[in-house]
Amino acid sequence: MKVELADIKAQHKAIEPEILATLADVFTDCRFILGPNVTALEQEIAALSGVRFAAGVNSGTDALLIALAALDIKPGDEVITTPFTFVATVETVCQLGATPVFADIDLDTFNIDPAEIEKKITPKTRAIMPVHLFGQLADVETINAIGQKHGIPVIGDGAQAIGASRNGVPIGQTAALTTLSFYPTKNLGGCGDGGMVLTDDEKLYEQIKLLRFHGSGGGYIYKRIGYCSRLDEIQAAVLRIKLKRLAAWNNARKANAARYISKLSGVQSVILPKTDPGNDHIYHQFTVRVAGGAERRDALKAHLASHEIGSAVFYPRSLHLMGPYTEYGAKPGDLPNSERATSEVLSLPVHPDLTAAQVDFVADTIASFK
Ligand SMILES: *Cc1c(COP(=O)(O)O)cnc(C)c1O
Repeated sequence: MKVELADIKAQHKAIEPEILATLADVFTDCRFILGPNVTALEQEIAALSGVRFAAGVNSGTDALLIALAALDIKPGDEVITTPFTFVATVETVCQLGATPVFADIDLDTFNIDPAEIEKKITPKTRAIMPVHLFGQLADVETINAIGQKHGIPVIGDGAQAIGASRNGVPIGQTAALTTLSFYPTKNLGGCGDGGMVLTDDEKLYEQIKLLRFHGSGGGYIYKRIGYCSRLDEIQAAVLRIKLKRLAAWNNARKANAARYISKLSGVQSVILPKTDPGNDHIYHQFTVRVAGGAERRDALKAHLASHEIGSAVFYPRSLHLMGPYTEYGAKPGDLPNSERATSEVLSLPVHPDLTAAQVDFVADTIASFK
């Protein structure tokens, strides 16, 4: 039985006529940049996320860059973040000339550990940037309390966590700025790149709107140096159709995760992911740890592949040990949990189009791994 790690073709099957019809409408309308679907999508996602303002941008990466720029992050500034993330989180800090300062993760949730953040604060710290990894919010209550105590704003990288909440608080309310990605394989994915910045702060929202449009408020008047980073109308139109299904899709992911947890609970070879109490985890990934290190993990991955089951290592290398990011001062051994996670993690298929039989097949195949 073939089981894909992500299956966009299956997702599109049921909604293809609706998507093609909306594309035809956009083509006829010809308002390709910041058109009516972008405005409507911004309002719909702001409402879903519990914030007043949302601004569509070109990608989840640009959402991070623009959120950091809205806070005027500049050379000499330090931004505390996790080394166990997709590169964009750290890359954008560096693009602005600022210094990423890595704080280690909690091995149970894979999210940044607030106690480690506290240790890394200096007079140069200008932002704290947790990532809500795999669809579960970081410990935002503690992180925001640390930020408040030191007067440092929090930016949440929510690329993997659209629709998530913690203790009943929706994602948009968990930081001064939250970013989203609509990369095709994300829980809400477009047919190309896209992203969004969420905030409740009107002044920051005004800066984000300037930044995404060359620093211009219109009329060829430039108020600051900006970017060319708009969410395009075609993506927004597709995303609005998919957004209507997001809650059902996230629920299907949660059901698949629950099924894995019950099926795999006695299986020695894997350590199951934990959900912090109070978190509504939307399972962008279902990521287990394989006791015994990278060789054993890679052997399980190969075992699954031999049964036509897709799996992936997110992420194979802690960013402080990778190429250009080694320049920022962290050494091997400095972030032990992050380093350990890279040798143990394996993400299993959890997408909403899986059947119960497929989940059972994956679980049984893991159980048969010796
Ligand atoms: C996907 C992702 C991004 C980047 O989003 P893009 O839309 O691909 O630019 C940033 N951070 C995390 C944690 C991601 O998973």
